[in-house]
Amino acid sequence: MPEIYDAIIVGARCAGSPTAALLARKGYRVLVVDRATFPSDTVSTHVVQPLAVAALARWGLIDRLTATGCPPIHTYTFDFGPFTISGSPGTRDVPVAYCPRRTILDKLLVDAAAEAGAEIREGFTVDEVLIEHGRVAGIKGRSKGAATITERARVVVGADGRHSLVADAVRPEQYNEKPPLLAPYYTYWSNLPMDGRFETYIRPHRGFAAAPTHDGLTMTVAGWPYPEFEANKKDVEANFLKLFDLAPEFADRMRGAKREAPIAGVPVSNFFRKPFGPGWVLVGDAGYNKDPITAQGISDAFRGAEKCAIALDQIFSGGRSFDEAMAEYQRTRDEAALPMYEFTCQLATLEPPPLQMQQLLGAILGSQKAMDGFAQMNAGTISPAEFGAIAAAHAAS
Ligand SMILES: Cc1cc2nc3c(=O)[nH]c(=O)nc-3n(C[C@H](O)[C@H](O)[C@H](O)COP(=O)(O)OP(=O)(O)OC[C@H]3O[C@@H](n4cnc5c(N)ncnc54)[C@H](O)[C@@H]3O)c2cc1C
Repeated sequence: MPEIYDAIIVGARCAGSPTAALLARKGYRVLVVDRATFPSDTVSTHVVQPLAVAALARWGLIDRLTATGCPPIHTYTFDFGPFTISGSPGTRDVPVAYCPRRTILDKLLVDAAAEAGAEIREGFTVDEVLIEHGRVAGIKGRSKGAATITERARVVVGADGRHSLVADAVRPEQYNEKPPLLAPYYTYWSNLPMDGRFETYIRPHRGFAAAPTHDGLTMTVAGWPYPEFEANKKDVEANFLKLFDLAPEFADRMRGAKREAPIAGVPVSNFFRKPFGPGWVLVGDAGYNKDPITAQGISDAFRGAEKCAIALDQIFSGGRSFDEAMAEYQRTRDEAALPMYEFTCQLATLEPPPLQMQQLLGAILGSQKAMDGFAQMNAGTISPAEFGAIAAAHAAS
């Protein structure tokens, strides 16, 4: 059977649409399918870290984002109770983060893929991955109310999130697995101005954060350790709302605020999956998932999309074998992600920071450069090791 497409991408959000756009811009024939239609929301908060903002800028999309009225975030604060660390999360070139609603961000990404020449099929559910002679050859799926159809491609890209159907079909090796660690929940408030700050409050076995988003609203996200998930599930709202009292000044600010949305949230497990095999590739959460406490998923999805598109271009153009290009995709993904993954999983336990980190935090108070380094590490702009070096240099000075 002839292959109509170079790539079929299942999933059109943070991983799928950028992968599609980058491939389509190179002239490849790309089909993107998603059972969702756009604009639509998904269960996720949406801090877009400076390195992800840099990716949007590379793709020519940053002006479109700012035109939606999304406020920039220039400062991250970390309130540990006895002291607060406050710093700039970005770089000189990309100094800010944003917190755009997924209804807006994801639609912008889908539209960019369509403009680049990818064929987008919204409201199309993939029911089955087509496997022939031991390799993935396409998908079987349907639009609402329509008959099941088959589409074929040289490669099927699973950008279909952490419960990936593509991964289920090909059963890749899973490694560095950790169970759910945190139960996170979020909602939106009016009349809670943030003035460009993403504020995080860290208390024993509890944490919450607030960031400004579209429409003059502020998103608050809060969580408790996963072992309390079942017990607290009985009254998420009361457990969520009482968390803010742990920071009385913030609770005071909330008294004039009005909640504008229900509380949403979901705990997630942590894993890496081998992201390739005969005829298939995984990108975004489908290939690597972690707790949202450090808000890295969108950055990782964007970085993965760029790496995946480069590897597929090398393969399609005949420059490299599939296995060679994809092995590098996996290696560079893991190298870039692993230190932040370990840091994220440690934070998500909501245990007090390890002694070494506590000493570092005490040592950097008062040094703006080192506090910027702490904000940058939490944003994923620099690695934990790079922050360690900045803090050590400060301590030695
Ligand atoms: C509570 C929570 C808070 C978070 N907060 C942040 C944050 O602040 N910042 C951040 O960077 N990240 C955050 N994340 C992580 C972030 O949501 C993900 O990393 C990101 O959405 C990954 O994008 P993706 O494209 O890989 O997958 P997804 O966004 O999950 O998209 C997958 C798409 O695939 C489609 N799909 C799935 N199966 C099929 C099928 N069979 N047929 C057709 N379509 C299908 C779905 O409809 C969906 O549109 C959070 C996650 C959670 C759970």
